Amino acid sequence: MADLKIKTAYFGGSFDPPHAGHIALADAAVAAGLADEVWLAPAWVPPHKHRRLSPFSDRLRMTELACEGHAGLRVCADESEFALAPSYTIDVLAKLEEKYPSRRFLLLIGGDMLATFHQWHRAKELLAKYPVVSYPRPGEPDSAAELRKHWSAEETEKLRSGLLAAVPLFDISSTKIRRGLEKGQNTDNSINTEVFEYIMKSGLYRKKGDKID
Ligand code: ATP
Repeated sequence: MADLKIKTAYFGGSFDPPHAGHIALADAAVAAGLADEVWLAPAWVPPHKHRRLSPFSDRLRMTELACEGHAGLRVCADESEFALAPSYTIDVLAKLEEKYPSRRFLLLIGGDMLATFHQWHRAKELLAKYPVVSYPRPGEPDSAAELRKHWSAEETEKLRSGLLAAVPLFDISSTKIRRGLEKGQNTDNSINTEVFEYIMKSGLYRKKGDKID
């Protein structure tokens, strides 16, 4: 029987701030026909991040601004409603499935996450339940041998088959961008004008004591 559910890629992250790499990754999943929609979901309390994050409301608004004009990209604010702490992906997806029964979820991640995916909360179960699409990130080894250290041959194959091929690489990260923003700079123009203006107005990422003229 045909699957009538809407293929929805859950793309979680800190999005602190959202940048061109995030958007390219999400666009690529739609363009490749892997998802009808990609939901960019700013994490409520990301399990692996220890740095203090910007407020959820700011990360949500910036992600909305970053997605504007990109067909198929939506921002998912549900994690604030679920308020899971920590917001483990497997728990968030279970809640989303319950809330949106007409959707079939898959997971979209960056290549760096693929290398550490075995450390995620209930990783084996996550992989068994959801297709995992990944986007290569510069500097990340994508070797089957690496994956085989932690996964069975079948699981390794499943993970590798979800890796998007022949896509441009983006050597950018929110960390690098935050460093530029401390000085009021948009490093490599990696964030769009609307997001940059939001940051400049709100004072996010500015070093304490700095003033804008
Ligand atoms: P930070 O530098 O603060 O750790 P980040 O740039 O890695 O942030 P996140 O919001 O933590 O961004 O990432 C969300 C998701 O996007 C993750 O799955 C990550 O692997 C992926 N991602 C982020 N930047 C890239 C990139 N340049 N290429 C491929 N994937 C990326």
